Amino acid sequence: MRPATTAVHAGRPPHQPDQPLNAPITMAATYVAGGQVEYGRYGNPTWTALEDAIGALEGGRCLTFASGLAAVATVLDLVGAEGVVVAPRHSYNGTIGQLADLESRGRVRARLVDVTDTAAFVAACEDAALVWLESPTNPALEVADISAIATGAHEAGAHVVVDNTFATPLLQQPLAMGADIVVHSATKYLAGHSDVQMGALVTGDDALYDVLKGRRDLLGAVPGPFEAWLTLRGMRTLALRVERAQANAAELADRLRAHPAVRAVRYPGFGAIVGLELADADTADHFQHGVELWVYATSLGGVESTLERRRRWKSEPETIPEGLLRLSVGIEDVEDLWADLARALEA
Ligand SMILES: *Cc1c(COP(=O)(O)O)cnc(C)c1O
Repeated sequence: MRPATTAVHAGRPPHQPDQPLNAPITMAATYVAGGQVEYGRYGNPTWTALEDAIGALEGGRCLTFASGLAAVATVLDLVGAEGVVVAPRHSYNGTIGQLADLESRGRVRARLVDVTDTAAFVAACEDAALVWLESPTNPALEVADISAIATGAHEAGAHVVVDNTFATPLLQQPLAMGADIVVHSATKYLAGHSDVQMGALVTGDDALYDVLKGRRDLLGAVPGPFEAWLTLRGMRTLALRVERAQANAAELADRLRAHPAVRAVRYPGFGAIVGLELADADTADHFQHGVELWVYATSLGGVESTLERRRRWKSEPETIPEGLLRLSVGIEDVEDLWADLARALEA
């Protein structure tokens, strides 16, 4: 099956009389003993349906978590004492925050590198235990050469992890490019409606799957069954949403580039996140308050278009320009989106 079909059909009950078409929400903290699951922290049929669908799209086995950062923490927790973790200097600020926290307690050594410089990034992997990639990066929108870096990192004996939140498995499948683990903030495009917090890990390695499952069982950052159901419901329209949002983003990136008030536009040529750089922090602050249809809000990947100046967050790296806004382009009519941006730019 092609991915758009998989997104609609994966994770459903078998086609048999009186089976529901959708996996039901199973609210269960415990199960009658003697079976496979036993307890609510170890498994849930609604998670399994969602994990089957995400796993099928990424080409591996999936584990879901209470949030994207719970999934990130589970992976970083694999690194042994003082192990070196190499990551893009413009990784998602929550990931950088976890690395800084672990480093401050002597748990790991974090090495943040410019991910667009493939040779320098591979060289930095020399003694790494874990190589973290995010592509495109949030919010700088830099694209990594995943295959080349994965090859170099594996030669150095490191595991390779790719945060695939921005691209979604429809636009990029990191396991096929050599990654060992894929991370998702399923809060974003997979769920797609700004109403669920959800994370996921996917791996093609059975031994690694068992280790990660063991960490989830032990640490307990498990998702709620209702959230798992909502995420899977959202994924049924993933292909349509990504297709429409991406077309809108490409069109808006072109129009923004031609506008005299715009200093720079970042758009990697795929996906639906656009970086819009205005003159300075003040101009960008006025702009984010000046839009009416677009929502001034953090997060991304929902059906509705949102934007924010990223440096309003103290945790954002200082190499991110003060005037950079991150636009998460939704699935509205592009003319309405443009009219609102153009009016706010004039103001
Ligand atoms: C939002 C985000 C996360 C964190 O996910 P949460 O669901 O908010 O915990 C991780 N990585 C990227 C790229 C993100 O955008």
